[in-house]
Order: sequence, then C-alpha cells, then structure tokens
Amino acid sequence: VALPARIDLDRRAIPEQIAHGLTRLVLSGELPPGRALQEGTIASDLGVSRTTVREGVRLLERSGLVRYESNRGAVVREPSPSNVRDVYRARLAVELGAACASFTELFDAAPIEQATAALGAAVDGGDPGDAVAADLEFHAAIVAAAGSTRLTDAFTGLSNELRLYVTTLSARAGQDPVRPVLSEHDAITAAARSGDRGELVALLTQHITEEAARAMALVDDGADGPATPRRG
Ligand SMILES: [Zn+2]
Repeated sequence: VALPARIDLDRRAIPEQIAHGLTRLVLSGELPPGRALQEGTIASDLGVSRTTVREGVRLLERSGLVRYESNRGAVVREPSPSNVRDVYRARLAVELGAACASFTELFDAAPIEQATAALGAAVDGGDPGDAVAADLEFHAAIVAAAGSTRLTDAFTGLSNELRLYVTTLSARAGQDPVRPVLSEHDAITAAARSGDRGELVALLTQHITEEAARAMALVDDGADGPATPRRG
C-alpha cells in the first residue's frame, strides 16, 4: 500500500481544532484546574464523534494541560507541589541548556529585544494572563537563540503547563505575576546582547528559581482553596 493513501489529513484537522479551542478555555480559566472534560457533551455540542474529541483531548494531555484519571477521564491539571516543582526543574534545565549552547558567536539579539518590548506592553495592558503569556514568549526567544529545534520543542512542551500554573496560582492569591519582576527581563536582555554568557546563566538561574519558589509558596499556602484538606 502506498503510504499517502494511509494518511487521513482531513480527519486530523478537527482534533487539532478541538485541542486548540480547549487549550484556550483552560488557559483563560473557563475550564479551571480540577474540572473534568465531558467528552460526550463536547462531542454532541460540536456534532463530532467521541473518538474525534478524545483525539483532541490527547493532544492536550501531551501539552501537559490535562491528565487522565481512571474514573473521571481527562481532568485539567492542578498546580500541585509535585507538578509545579517538576515543571520548573525541567524549565530551568532547558533554559540554562539553551543559554550555554548559544551566544558563543555573533547572534541576533533583535528577537529578544522585541520580546522584551512586547512583555512591557503586555504588563502595561493590565491583563495578568497576557503578561504571563508574554513572559513565556520572552523566555521562548532566549531558548530560540540557541538555534536548536529540539530545545525549542522542549520549551514549547512546558510552556502551556507553566502558563496554566502561574496564571492560576497568582489569580488565586490576588498577586500580579509579572510586574514585580519586569526589570529582571531588561537585565537578562542586556546580558544576552553583550554576549556575557556567565552573567546570562546567573541571571536566568536567579529569575527562574525565584519564580519557582514563589509558585511553590503559593501552592504551600493552600492556594487550592480552604475547602481542600491539607496533607503532610
Ligand atoms: Zn520571566
């Protein structure tokens, strides 16, 4: 059998559209952490098969936004201590790896500077969700400077989950997630522009570990809500 005859492109597009729509609902908080996705209801609402919805939900699972529970199906991930700790560990490894791999020769600082400007504009805009997204775009530009599609893919794979946790935790605590650390991005950009890799690694390490510590403190503060029993 010729290979092209076995690839069904049209069928594939719908699950991706479903995944895209569900991602938007999760990141906007309309589908909050802990909420089970009702695959049957989504299927009948959209007039598609349950199998098609499940394929879309699988894509969300791959990007870390939902996990399957045996009796509830796909559930939006909660920012639990273990999830938050693990995603920040992986993020630190990817960003520092990119910083170490790049800036060894002349490189183009323009995308990083554009991302810095976009970040400032997003913070001024006043929507915390937009600011978190722009913050992650800034860090994606740092990773992209390494010129490695594998590192870029690794960061993309973490960024939806990071966005979900930072947005959720800061909203629950009533905190502004990005404005207090906005100037740190200027310092990181300056280090990248000057090609000072040691400084870049030091600043990124501090920036990411402090953000991880803030996120962990919010999880430990019972940010899951007073109704949730605390364990440990
Ligand atoms: Zn940042």
